[in-house]
Amino acid sequence: MGFKNMNLKIIIMLLVLVMSVGCSSSYTITDDAQRIINNFPNIKNAKQVQIMKGTQYATPAFIFDSGISGKNVMILGGTHGNEPAGYEAALRLLEQLENKLPKSGKVILIPLANKQSIINKSRRIPVPDGADYERGNLNRCYPGKESGLPMEQMAYEIEQLTREHKVNVFIDIHEARFFHLDTPKKSKRKKGLGQTIIYYPNEKASWIVMNLIDTINETIDVSEEQFSAIERPILNSAAWWAGKYLEIPGFTFETTQKMDLEKRINFHLLLVKTVLELSEIW
Ligand SMILES: [Zn+2]
Repeated sequence: MGFKNMNLKIIIMLLVLVMSVGCSSSYTITDDAQRIINNFPNIKNAKQVQIMKGTQYATPAFIFDSGISGKNVMILGGTHGNEPAGYEAALRLLEQLENKLPKSGKVILIPLANKQSIINKSRRIPVPDGADYERGNLNRCYPGKESGLPMEQMAYEIEQLTREHKVNVFIDIHEARFFHLDTPKKSKRKKGLGQTIIYYPNEKASWIVMNLIDTINETIDVSEEQFSAIERPILNSAAWWAGKYLEIPGFTFETTQKMDLEKRINFHLLLVKTVLELSEIW
């Protein structure tokens, strides 16, 4: 019952977001994404667990369990609220998983990881005066803290869920401003992160990333849209934590906001699908 109320809250907040004006981004949540959010209470094939239950940060994790032992994959969308392709793709994935169950292992999907940042279309949530502003950036809070600031607690709860389900592959879906292979000279970074798969280097991750790059680049004709593999996720990110602390493949998927949203979503979905197939989940 509490869950239903919480969902209602999410839905209302996202509707407000759709109607709000004055934001710099022209993005508004797509009809598909809104429909999938509205349908959270009707998801039948996953167990739903609330993370940060009872707080304004509460958000569901959906556990699709085949009941047959195999590989377990954790997937986050919405870590950064100003990167809509991340959670738009994760929401579509939720619908795909509902219709196409894992044949072995499990998928644990958290489509709206930092819900408040999604509502605010921002990268971070505010932190108390004097605190490091990156404590409001979920992707700089790993390893988390059980009684830290909200995003540190969120990271902690995601880690608990990851350990509890003996996750073998960890994926965090993002997007970036500039193409890695076509970065403007004036950019802060020498190379943008758009169209990259960032991975914590270990043997299993290298094997997956090679397959991912081959599979996705085969579908791409435009040279700057080709994906590149980059080692070493940023310190204190989710992929970094998964690689360093759990010694499992940890990935950050990045598309580029220079392209249409649907295109970015489809790239993410193809990458995820490839991992699920390599893991014999699909
Ligand atoms: Zn990001």
